[in-house]
Amino acid sequence: MANFQTHLNVGILVSAVTTLGLHTAGLVQAGQALPYFTLGVVGSLLPDIDLKTSRPSNALFSALGAVLAFIMTLPLTGRFLPLELALIWGGVFLSVRYGFFEIFSRLTVHRGIWHSWLAIAAVALAVTNIAYWLWRQSPELSWLAGLMVGIGYLTHLCLDEFYSVDLFNRKIKRSFGTALKLFSLASPWSSFVMFMAVLALWWLAPPADMWLERIQTESLVDLHGTFDQFREALNGAWTQVESWLERLLRSGQTVLGASAALD
Ligand SMILES: [Zn+2]
Repeated sequence: MANFQTHLNVGILVSAVTTLGLHTAGLVQAGQALPYFTLGVVGSLLPDIDLKTSRPSNALFSALGAVLAFIMTLPLTGRFLPLELALIWGGVFLSVRYGFFEIFSRLTVHRGIWHSWLAIAAVALAVTNIAYWLWRQSPELSWLAGLMVGIGYLTHLCLDEFYSVDLFNRKIKRSFGTALKLFSLASPWSSFVMFMAVLALWWLAPPADMWLERIQTESLVDLHGTFDQFREALNGAWTQVESWLERLLRSGQTVLGASAALD
């Protein structure tokens, strides 16, 4: 599964740089970096959820089942006995993992609607809403969560498009143009339903005023400042990576030194 690995690796790289950039810009605290990074990586694997029999989509539905089961049961802690909670957890997990997966795979076509800009909007907005309404995050952090998944998702579609690869390592150049489309012409009904979902999610989403203000006051008026900020963010991210490497090397040397001392 070399191409699944490629999606994973590039997803990790892009999510790491984005998270470090957000942290350097002061938007994400150090303690929140890991969840945001994870959201980006999940986003970069999510589009191939439309592949029926692949290991990735099976794994994705297992993970989705577990995550949804936690989302449903954690707020109920204290109101139910541990055994009851475990039963609810198991029920949610099994119905997502097998029931929902079966329905979903009957309804979807690989590289159909889930490989489109419309899907990026739907998934990012869905995560923004989950972060806001279920995880009780601030509007700002909720939008950032949606953004991370959106960036991961976009990374996957770009990779599909540029390399025209699929999960089974066949080189199909025919597939060019099937990943980064606005919506799916081949399945107008799915496109319509997804479009309605995007409208509903947009309506439900937390206020985005602070972002619009930020964009107006900082980015558009002061493009130069934004560029400087971006460069600073990249510099910061690089310094962070450097210090990690340094620490890694140092701990490697310590281990080597210790084993040499033992000899
Ligand atoms: Zn794909």
